[in-house]
Amino acid sequence: MIKDLTVDRSAFDRIIQSGGYVSMHTGCAPEANNTLVEKHASDGAFNSAACIGCGACVAVCQNASATLFVAAKITHLAYYPKVKLNPKTGQKKLILKMQSEGFGSCANHRHCTPACPKDVSLQNITRVNKILG
Ligand code: SF4
Repeated sequence: MIKDLTVDRSAFDRIIQSGGYVSMHTGCAPEANNTLVEKHASDGAFNSAACIGCGACVAVCQNASATLFVAAKITHLAYYPKVKLNPKTGQKKLILKMQSEGFGSCANHRHCTPACPKDVSLQNITRVNKILG
């Protein structure tokens, strides 16, 4: 049963399952100083990773687009230096899944970022558009 004031975010889960991950050897915990991350990259990754999947960006969007959410999920991975994104398969799947779940496309109205409780930046969308071409 879905109660009043409760948002069904299962569509977000299905989007993440479709390609919101990367494959890499994890092994045991590496020495933290072996992987240098530039300050701008760690700040950008943190901004993206702050997304809590609340759905406020979708609720406020005229097109019911989940582009800010998807862009945050892709971008927080893209900032990590050892991650090689595969725009043609892995990350493209998130966009395709977003569309198949019935979310609209981004028309750049920019209502999403002011509504976002975690201040996820609009630059995530710009960055993802560059990554996916
Ligand atoms: S409003 Fe912000 S925190 Fe909520 S799902 Fe959208 S991007 Fe994520």
